[in-house]
Amino acid sequence: MPDSHYIIVVGCGRLGCMLANQLCGAGHSVVAIDRNPSAFDNLSIDFSGYKIVGDAAEVSVLHEAEIEKANTLFAVTTKDSMNLMVAQVASEVFQVPSVVARVYDPKRETVYREFGIQTISPTQLSASAFLQCIPIKAR
Ligand code: AMP
Repeated sequence: MPDSHYIIVVGCGRLGCMLANQLCGAGHSVVAIDRNPSAFDNLSIDFSGYKIVGDAAEVSVLHEAEIEKANTLFAVTTKDSMNLMVAQVASEVFQVPSVVARVYDPKRETVYREFGIQTISPTQLSASAFLQCIPIKAR
């Protein structure tokens, strides 16, 4: 496993920018993709990675990001279906070794896992964090 990873972040909103900033700060090669150029305004001034304006659903945009070199792809737009689609293409077509997708709807996580895609559910993480704030047991 190399020390420096080549990581693609799809969707450069609050979460995507935070990931891109931190990964870049840690010395990794980062490519941030967003279809809205103003999304990159939240990247740190120290961000030294690449920014690509484009729709990650288009394979040409993934080629421009040199996805074949990527160790990891994070699909973190706000749309579960978009994240699933990009994650699937990254995993199956380009064989990116590590693909992680944001999924709001916990019911959809099973589908993602069937495709071998790791998922992070903000909904589930938030529910756990809220419940940990109170001294009761919840199922
Ligand atoms: P947020 O709303 O803060 O979670 O940000 C989500 C980001 O994902 C926004 O900046 C959108 O422009 C971006 N986004 C949504 N769909 C796509 C897509 N197909 N390709 C690239 N970026 C996208």
